[in-house]
Amino acid sequence: MSEMTESLPPEYKNSFQTPNYARQPVEFVRGAGCYLYDRHGNRYLDLLSGIGVNNVGHCHPAVVKAIERQASELIHASNLFWTAPAERLARTLSELSLGGKAFFCNSGAEAVEAAIKIARARAWQAGSPARKIVVVERAFHGRTMGALSATPQEDKQAPFAPLVSGFQTVPRDDADALAAAVDDQTCAVLVEPVQGEGGVHVFADDFLVAAREACNRVDALLMFDEVQCGVGRTGRLWAYQHTPVTPDLMTLAKGLGGGLPVGAVVTAPHCGDVLQPGFHGSTFGGNPVVMAAANAAMEVIAEDDLLAHVRGIGDRLGQRLGEHGVVNGRGLMLAVELAGRQDARQVVARLLAEHRVVANATDERTLRLLPPLVIGDDELDEGCEAISAALGA
Ligand SMILES: *Cc1c(COP(=O)(O)O)cnc(C)c1O
Repeated sequence: MSEMTESLPPEYKNSFQTPNYARQPVEFVRGAGCYLYDRHGNRYLDLLSGIGVNNVGHCHPAVVKAIERQASELIHASNLFWTAPAERLARTLSELSLGGKAFFCNSGAEAVEAAIKIARARAWQAGSPARKIVVVERAFHGRTMGALSATPQEDKQAPFAPLVSGFQTVPRDDADALAAAVDDQTCAVLVEPVQGEGGVHVFADDFLVAAREACNRVDALLMFDEVQCGVGRTGRLWAYQHTPVTPDLMTLAKGLGGGLPVGAVVTAPHCGDVLQPGFHGSTFGGNPVVMAAANAAMEVIAEDDLLAHVRGIGDRLGQRLGEHGVVNGRGLMLAVELAGRQDARQVVARLLAEHRVVANATDERTLRLLPPLVIGDDELDEGCEAISAALGA
């Protein structure tokens, strides 16, 4: 660890960036496929994909080419005009999922903000007083004030009160509590079908079915936050495709842009026109370079072969991780609750410093892995051996 700290270039010791990230003492300068490199040329196996972003691997040639080509033609024009890359991505997302329309922004939190605004505006347009949004214990929906208000985690919310009002939290997997919370004041239920930041948690089908039925009962929107679990991460293109439930709207971000910053809301047809001119917007939303990267990434990810690969190799990884504790998750969105007494954060630090493997801990008990979807058997074995060694230490 100390050797590693010394290899960190000195300018970071008195960084001019705000200290809001608990950064590991490594500087990366290059990435290719499932590997990252520091400036000394040391190679690191990436089992985290920039937190579920580099789903097609680092610097995928198709993504690089699309960015280079688009950047040399048109970088930005604004949403006062039409540009083809955004229209193409909207059509792709609609045809591959809910069949309605897409709104583009620049991050997951912004996608959640847009979803909240769609839910409330839809009720407002119908002359309904319903404004309440039901969310689930340990959810994570982002850091902006609206998304944070939908994120019932005391440590994340406390410094920023007062929050946006109108959110109600129900316990995980308590279908009765969810049904009871959804009343005639409710305009939406917002849920990650697989929770990410709150430790990986796959919701039981009956909980999601209860959410669907409750929303139908009061004409509220069922909104799935697929910012982390979408875009192939679970071995289906969208996490809802593992369940008996289809949402009215979903939020996307992380893996969508092939590494570039992007967010999206994709709707069902019946709520595609809620956002009327002037209701909402984003200067950079639908930026041509970002959209070109996303179109290229989507072409890689939406392949049946790749999604089957994610399911197969995800099963293998899950079995290997099972040696160390209880495994949660789907596809290549996996976490293991460590059976031993080790602090998962220290395990992550050891993996990085001693094995040059990038992983993540969602809390002191939970080791989370989000490898690139293109990870191969040899890389998986390398990662699993490092995890065993780091846990044995
Ligand atoms: C990461 C995440 C967000 C927030 O995305 P940002 O791009 O960091 O704003 C929202 N929802 C879920 C489920 C996430 O995992």
